[in-house]
Amino acid sequence: MDFSFSKEQVFFREQFTKTLNEIVAPHAATIDQEDAFPHEIFKKIGNLGYYGMRYPQEIGGMGADCTTFTIFAEELASVSISFAAIATMQCLMGTDFLFRFGNRDIKERVLIPAIRGEKIGTIAFTEPDCGSDLGAIKTRAIKKGDVYILKGRKLWITNAEVADFVTVVASVEPAKRINGLAFFLVEKGTPGFYTGQKIEKMSARGSVTGELIFDECTIPASNLLGEEGKGAQYLESILSEIRVMIAGLGIGLAKSAYRSAVMYSKQREAFGRSIGNFQLIQDKIAEMETRIRSAWLLTYYAAWLKDNGKQAKKEAAMAKLYSTETASFVVDQATRIYGSYGIAHEYPVERYFRDARFLLFGGGTSEILKTLIARECLKT
Ligand SMILES: Cc1cc2nc3c(=O)[nH]c(=O)nc-3n(C[C@H](O)[C@H](O)[C@H](O)COP(=O)(O)OP(=O)(O)OC[C@H]3O[C@@H](n4cnc5c(N)ncnc54)[C@H](O)[C@@H]3O)c2cc1C
Repeated sequence: MDFSFSKEQVFFREQFTKTLNEIVAPHAATIDQEDAFPHEIFKKIGNLGYYGMRYPQEIGGMGADCTTFTIFAEELASVSISFAAIATMQCLMGTDFLFRFGNRDIKERVLIPAIRGEKIGTIAFTEPDCGSDLGAIKTRAIKKGDVYILKGRKLWITNAEVADFVTVVASVEPAKRINGLAFFLVEKGTPGFYTGQKIEKMSARGSVTGELIFDECTIPASNLLGEEGKGAQYLESILSEIRVMIAGLGIGLAKSAYRSAVMYSKQREAFGRSIGNFQLIQDKIAEMETRIRSAWLLTYYAAWLKDNGKQAKKEAAMAKLYSTETASFVVDQATRIYGSYGIAHEYPVERYFRDARFLLFGGGTSEILKTLIARECLKT
């Protein structure tokens, strides 16, 4: 057994941490306060090539493995969940289907500029009436000659108001429910494609979330990504990677909250001693650290499985479940250690507390993940 990272992975973490400390960390609180997409920071990180992490060098990527991508997610989240949500969307869900199924024109005109941070991407499957249950998607795509006509509404879409392009999940055959889905590329400026309401939310602010409207939106048939009816299958094929990535986000956020709490427990005094001397505070610290380490082991084990071509469906689900629940637990404990200052804007733990909720939904809610894990367990 070997629990160490490779030299390249250690080097990547060091370099990326430096980059984040220079470019993102000084603005993390402002991004949260202003709840506006941080265009300049987005471009700077894009110029450095990070949105191409998972893609081959031939198209401007870094060809990184899943472990390195998890390190990327962990370090991002330790600085800013808001920016982590933006950057990971750009690296993974927002661009993956263009990379896999886009034709040459789509790759040159949309994907490569996105990798450079010149275009903003997103994915849209959630609707006002459905999230987990993809079979209930109502957005329709109807083929007419050499075009598709899209009609429907998407809600809770990351980057909705700023996205230059979106991978839309629509139904081509509603009777087939989940087996009737397909993916389409829709670009800003397409007739019948509008941005709707923005959702005011407490977590991942700055990663603006909102509504997209498709009203007889007409796109070329060549914007179909992959084949009709295979949408659910395509989504399933990257779900483990998405879950490991979000598990990485959970570790990063939890570590920041834990570190702040340990520091505070050494400084803050009550009854003539630092609060870290009280056993009940020590209990919290021990629990936090033990759970973070456990989440770390589950997460990097799942990443290792993926990097070694092994099946990681159950492990990725367990990693996402445990790591994101751990993040929620840790931020709660951290804010308790801070006492009343735990809810003050003065300290970042208050932001960590709010941001932890963001991790619980995308990539499968905890309830959905438990259902999946149990189903996998019962198969054996
Ligand atoms: C900040 C943010 C950004 C997002 N960005 C995007 C995006 O870019 N693109 C996109 O498409 N979506 C996005 N989403 C939506 C996200 O993917 C959904 O929230 C998620 O899929 C869950 O769907 P839902 O919220 O509609 O919950 P629902 O599916 O309605 O579930 C509600 C509750 O019921 C439970 N539940 C549902 N089914 C079952 C079951 N079978 N067994 C037990 N319990 C069940 C759930 O666990 C949950 O507790 C985003 C969400 C957030 C919060």
